[in-house]
Amino acid sequence: MIKIDQSRAPFAMPMLPWAKSALAPHISAETIDYHYGKHLQTYVNNLNGLVASGEFASSSLEEIVRKAPQGPLFNNAAQMWNHTLYFLQLSPTPKTRPTGPLAAAIDRDFGSFDAFREQFAKSALGLFGSGWTWLAADKPGGKLSIVNALNAGNPLTEGKLPLMVIDVWEHAYYIDHRNARAASIEAFWKIIDWKVAESRF
Ligand code: MN
Repeated sequence: MIKIDQSRAPFAMPMLPWAKSALAPHISAETIDYHYGKHLQTYVNNLNGLVASGEFASSSLEEIVRKAPQGPLFNNAAQMWNHTLYFLQLSPTPKTRPTGPLAAAIDRDFGSFDAFREQFAKSALGLFGSGWTWLAADKPGGKLSIVNALNAGNPLTEGKLPLMVIDVWEHAYYIDHRNARAASIEAFWKIIDWKVAESRF
């Protein structure tokens, strides 16, 4: 179970449970160096600076994402939350298909796992600009949906439970796949660990 255990500022970087070269060739060590080491680190640093003296100084990361108004505080908090789930759901030795209640819900709400993958990939490919494509549930164990969110968007702000996510900002794939977002989505399926989404569901 991924715990985003960030009860109040200052928030710390999530620790990666694998070596930065472990996801290659799907995601290279160079991408991890930039995406985790520079982009995410910058969001965390910005967030800690913004939150220090304001009304959210005693709030958890998740509370800030749920309640902060649109603007720099929300953007940096949500980017920290989103990237934490994104990185921690990836694995060099993933469970490549869901089983149990999540698999049953995918069959119920999308028809089949293959139909879900096709619809999710189409959504991620079709998102214009920078953002995130989410699999979310309306509640634990509830109805599933695919949510396209621009910029730092997160289904928590719609009262939904995020289960898994692909980062479709160009910074997530440009080093490894250049402009080919479709290739980066194909690579994503090789390293997404369904155990994480199952435990969140
Ligand atoms: Mn990113």
